[in-house]
This record gives sequence, structure tokens and C-alpha cells, in this order.
Amino acid sequence: MIKENIEKILKELPPGVELAAAVKGRSIAEVKEAAAAGVTILADNYLQEAAEKIEALGRVARWHFIGHLQKNKVQKAAALFDMLETIDSFELAQVLDKECGRLGKVMPVLLEVNSADEPQKAGLEPAEVESFVGRAGSLAHLKISGLMTMGPLVDNPEAIRPFFRKVKEIFDLIKSKAYDNLDWRYLSMGMSDTYKIAIEEGANIVRIGTAIFGIRR
Ligand SMILES: *Cc1c(COP(=O)(O)O)cnc(C)c1O
Repeated sequence: MIKENIEKILKELPPGVELAAAVKGRSIAEVKEAAAAGVTILADNYLQEAAEKIEALGRVARWHFIGHLQKNKVQKAAALFDMLETIDSFELAQVLDKECGRLGKVMPVLLEVNSADEPQKAGLEPAEVESFVGRAGSLAHLKISGLMTMGPLVDNPEAIRPFFRKVKEIFDLIKSKAYDNLDWRYLSMGMSDTYKIAIEEGANIVRIGTAIFGIRR
């Protein structure tokens, strides 16, 4: 089933849109099957879980971190992942930059946007993104590569469209200006219920779990 689900999704994606399989809570066998079916990005929310999968499977795909990143876990995250999609404060970025410097690597990161300005949710407020980007020149060991958003929980997928549109507007605004130290190219939005809408609104990474692996147990 996993293979068929992935083939179906890959066929639907327009050129230039990448599929990230969201693998939280999935078994090593399931993740292996996803990579074998042609998924090129594996995205996990949990460091320990990802470490176990990477140890078992190796770098069968690029590994993206999509969970909430705590400052005291930055060292581990910097060592494990190929991209961190959930940078939600400048302080976190500074800690990560320092750690990547120690490791001698440059880490691609996305800035997470709290697109509905929900108080309980992680992410930069939409109005904070530009001031973050304006200070990015000092983060020599990060490659600030775009934006990621979850969007609010909605019953009707169509209700999320304005939030995706707002994040795309911020993405385009920043793209139109010449900030230092940016490699501005990725817009990660859309999950199983909403990825088609996200693509219509400009996403080029979609993060899909349930539609690949089935309902989480
Ligand atoms: C779980 C998760 C997804 C995928 O969600 P599905 O609804 O299972 O497709 C995408 N992004 C993040 C950050 C997630 O935690």
C-alpha cells in the first residue's frame, strides 16, 4: 500500500514540488518502503526516533526535522539532519549557528511561520519574519532557505488556503529584496488533507504522512 500511495502522490505533484514523507511514529520497515518507492525527503518530528531510523536505514533520503526544536537539543539535531524546517526564533538560530560552526557544516534551515497567529503554536509571527531575515547575515553557518508553515487545524481543507496564501506573500516579498546570506528557494506547506491546496498556493515541499502510511495508531 505504501508504495502505491507514494506512486499516486508522486504522479500528482507538478515538476519542482518535492514530497517529504512525514514518518513520526512509523516503523523502520514502513520508512524503508517509502524510501524504496522514491521518496527523497524523510521528515521526522522527534530526534530520538529519527536517530534510530537513520542508524537502521542510513541516508536513504535527505532527513528533515519538522518537530519543535528545543535549544538544548540543537547539538543532536545539527548532527543528524540535512535540513531543519522549524526555526522559530532568532535565539534558536544563533544557538544552532554556533553548533554548526563547531561541526564545520552549513545547515539549510526554513523559518516556521505561525500563519494564523495562534498563541499556543510555535513559529514566527508573520510580521516577525522580515526582521529575522534582516539579521540573517550574522548566521554564517546557516543557509536560510525559505519558509515552512503548518496552518491552523481546519475541518474543511479549503479554509486553510488564506493562510498558505499569506505565507507565500511573505515568501515572495523577501525574495524580491536582496538580503544577505539567503538561499531563498523552499516553501514547505501542506499535509495529507491540504497538499493540493498548498501546491496551488505555491508550496514546493509538501509533508505527507497519513496519505502515505495510513491513520497513525
Ligand atoms: C505529522 C505532520 C505532517 C503530516 O501530517 P499528515 O496529516 O499525517 O499528512 C506534516 N507536517 C508536520 C509538521 C507534521 O507533524
